Amino acid sequence: MAHDAQARELGIEGYIVLPLSDADGISARAAFNKFVFDDKLPELTDSFNAIRKSVLNPLNTAGSFGACNMASAYHHPSSIAIDKIALKTARGTLHAYAKLHGLKYLSVVPDRMCFRTSTPGSESPHTDNTAGVEEESDVFFGGFLNLNPLGPDPNSAVQIMSLIPRSHKMKASFKGGDFSPAKGNKAYLKRLKAQMRGIEVKPNHMILFFENCMHEVLAKRILIPVRRKFTAFMLRVSHNEWCTCFDAYDGEKRKDERAKDDGHVLCPHRASEMTDQAALDHKGGVKGPMYPKLYWTNHVTKLATLTKQLQPKMLTERTFASGKRQGEVWLTPRQFPPSLHDLQSKYTYAADVSKRFHPVAIMEESDVDEEEESPQKRANGKRKRVACVPSSSEDEE
Ligand SMILES: [Zn+2]
Repeated sequence: MAHDAQARELGIEGYIVLPLSDADGISARAAFNKFVFDDKLPELTDSFNAIRKSVLNPLNTAGSFGACNMASAYHHPSSIAIDKIALKTARGTLHAYAKLHGLKYLSVVPDRMCFRTSTPGSESPHTDNTAGVEEESDVFFGGFLNLNPLGPDPNSAVQIMSLIPRSHKMKASFKGGDFSPAKGNKAYLKRLKAQMRGIEVKPNHMILFFENCMHEVLAKRILIPVRRKFTAFMLRVSHNEWCTCFDAYDGEKRKDERAKDDGHVLCPHRASEMTDQAALDHKGGVKGPMYPKLYWTNHVTKLATLTKQLQPKMLTERTFASGKRQGEVWLTPRQFPPSLHDLQSKYTYAADVSKRFHPVAIMEESDVDEEEESPQKRANGKRKRVACVPSSSEDEE
């Protein structure tokens, strides 16, 4: 499908499923497996790293959602490589959508690796509304790549996204957070449930959906682990990087306040987190915690197991305030993980990847598919890009 047609479908339906090229699929799955099973991760103990290949929960994640919140999940070369493939796969569609709607800059928004091994907790129909909205015209897309093995029967590894097509809104909300309109209203909830569709995302495919498209998480038993990389994108009129530094200001004031701060086109906090290789705010506007709050009261033995598999710098002491363990001091994971700088385990890269979340200008003229493009035209396009694009995240071409 041509990019324009894809962009229209995305705009009308609120989502689109895109195939990865065979080569990109192979690279993305290999990168994912390297992160999850093979490479020594600096947050984990040597003994746990040595057996990760053979355990049920190789990323030592707490809770059933399976998203990995450690700093390495953002900065490991595999995460960078998969984000790059996601961008490459979605860029034509997103550019075409932006041009239809007068949006000028595309950003990759940080999101996480996911290895889900147990039935996820159900989430009732809701929309996501990320923090850090600058103008109502901002558009945030959530989504994921299905990185399950292709196998003899690819259908066995299909991942389902449950959403209501055409339920998205064209205006972003300044108020961040999940919004569940049917809470406490059984009749409305029933109506929403009836409109839900299970969208199939086969291995080697990615889904892109408006974050404010009504969706849900079903507590459905999983037969094989869900291998996923969450990916998110933002389209915006201004060249300001996505960040939440001005969320204390309401609505339109946010952009004005930001404009007063000359240094904040690119977020200085993000820049230092990228330098330190820290866990980042993911789409939603927060850092993911190392364990859900309820673990401390309901799953303390599970928490103790997770704790044993983490490096000492990942840990802190916590005292039971009440109950039969009152006064006991236990080691627990820190609520938020330290940076790789703090762990003295920063990754070194061959190329400068610090700019991978910077907004990149969308060209005015229509994007031409690479195979249709003459070398001369491509050379011209490249020159033009160099002239117009403030950052250099388009280096994979
Ligand atoms: Zn900022």
